Amino acid sequence: MSDIFFNGKFVGEVEAANTNSFIDQVKDKRRKGEFPAELSIRNDKEKDLMLMTTEIGRALRPLIVVKNGMSLLNKEHIQLLKENKLTFKDLIKQGVIEYLDAAEEDNALIAAKEEDLTPEHSHLEIASIAMLGLITALIPFGNYDSSSRLNRGSKTQKQALGLYSAAYPIRLDTDVSILHYPQKPLVRSFIYDAVPFYPAGQNMVVAIMPFQGYNVEDAIIMNKASIERGLGRGTYFRPYNATELHYTGGLRDSITIPEKDVSGYKTEESYRHLEEDGIAYPEARLSGGEVIIGKTSPPKFLSDMGEISIAKARKENSATIRQEEGGTVDTVFITVDNEGNRIIRVKVRDQRIPEIGDKFSTPHGQKGVLGLVASENEMPFSSSGIRPDIMFNPHGIPSRMTVGYLLELLAGKVASLRGKVVDGTSFAKRNTEDLEKQLQEMGFRADGKETFYDGITGKPLQAKIYVGNIYYLRLKYMVANKIHARGFGKVTLLTRQPVEGRNKGGALRLGEMEKDAIVGHGASLLLKERYDSDSVVVHICEKCGSFAVIDKIRNRELCSLCGNTKVEPIEVSYAFKLFMEELMSMHIFPHLILKNKYE
Ligand SMILES: [Zn+2]
Repeated sequence: MSDIFFNGKFVGEVEAANTNSFIDQVKDKRRKGEFPAELSIRNDKEKDLMLMTTEIGRALRPLIVVKNGMSLLNKEHIQLLKENKLTFKDLIKQGVIEYLDAAEEDNALIAAKEEDLTPEHSHLEIASIAMLGLITALIPFGNYDSSSRLNRGSKTQKQALGLYSAAYPIRLDTDVSILHYPQKPLVRSFIYDAVPFYPAGQNMVVAIMPFQGYNVEDAIIMNKASIERGLGRGTYFRPYNATELHYTGGLRDSITIPEKDVSGYKTEESYRHLEEDGIAYPEARLSGGEVIIGKTSPPKFLSDMGEISIAKARKENSATIRQEEGGTVDTVFITVDNEGNRIIRVKVRDQRIPEIGDKFSTPHGQKGVLGLVASENEMPFSSSGIRPDIMFNPHGIPSRMTVGYLLELLAGKVASLRGKVVDGTSFAKRNTEDLEKQLQEMGFRADGKETFYDGITGKPLQAKIYVGNIYYLRLKYMVANKIHARGFGKVTLLTRQPVEGRNKGGALRLGEMEKDAIVGHGASLLLKERYDSDSVVVHICEKCGSFAVIDKIRNRELCSLCGNTKVEPIEVSYAFKLFMEELMSMHIFPHLILKNKYE
């Protein structure tokens, strides 16, 4: 007997001899439309269970039903589909195509191609590319890459700069960028044309070669002249907000240039971009810490007012440009919320030209940071005078096995020379010999290699260089959003250790592993300095080891616990002192046993 579960509940049993006919009946009813198309049935032979489910949240995918080794989808269906007399939905109604979830797929034998069909097969893929997700299916020659690289590739495609929305000038999105000159890929999957995507990359001339050691460890080298012509150029947007709130008692915020007697007044310099309405004017160039929307708020507590008038007790509450950021005022939006409070939103833009450390990637998961912006005259060139936009290190190929990258390079070369798009749909039937033949016809070597000349000496390079076109993506991780340094700055009140986070002007964390590296180098003075940020001198009683009191008025040192007057100054971290006090708050008495290190 097999137990039958429906949506997690036990509903009945079926005799072992009848399990197969039971499953067939369920499937038959589903194909006839008597049961919902989303119903899936799984026979767990090991646990002797029959699991049926219609629950939400399962990924279902369409497959062609196979009976006795024959696909139910025949030539007539295809002809009717071409004539628009039949739709995909009709095929589902007719039971030609059905949706399977991951559980039912375990009991199915799915053929990738029609030629592979045997009587054992239960389903046939509609197209081999259907086994990939929408984004992964965009990767040209994806079936030549290893699966882990495809995963990475589809992740990087989601981080690529492009045109995220045609309405971007009137939208207020946080942390977005656009690419200035997005291009459609020269080598692309048919999905790219079937689904309306905005382009999110550029076709670049790539030479697979090292260059002065600046492209080790996945780094890439870019041509300075290409960057100056607009390659990879983008704009970063960030909105700043201020709301004019109404408080009880008729008090309210005011958007204005703050008066000099307002508490917390910054320097006059900080407000220089504000117009009479208290908002920075469009096209004003602001840098970090400068005021973009001037605002004053009434005092929070009446006691704050004290003797002085309310007007004088107002507080500075302006919106300022983030630390280590800057930009030009792009658009100013003024509106009113449901409660009648005035809302000001100012969008700031900042042009982002590719610089060392910016991240670039291809859809094949070949990502890397910009290691050098090489001047064009130093770059190697081909006999026809082509200088590459990007130089990619050949060591990045063998271990990653991204053959699709190499094929795209070759196909891209053909596409750019012919001025025609090359189809790179994964699993599509093609022969690379045709690409090679086309290259030969145009007077190039069939293998895509060319003689290159050293840009500095002008002598030909010994090795032939593999060169072609690849669709490169600029990723949203830019140095300008990450760069951070600090010599000194704010500390937290509780622990006296430096604050965390770039936007607060925090320190850079020197963690456990970084500590190990410094220990390994024997740089003890550096180590001491780094861990000295919250150092404090405490006085410890020599007798009982507890904290002693330094009474500066009576000029004496005293242990308030045992009355001893012999105390020693000890240097510890403030966080350690805090820890001791926290232990004391839990009725644990920690004490320091002092020892003279010279004895
Ligand atoms: Zn004591």
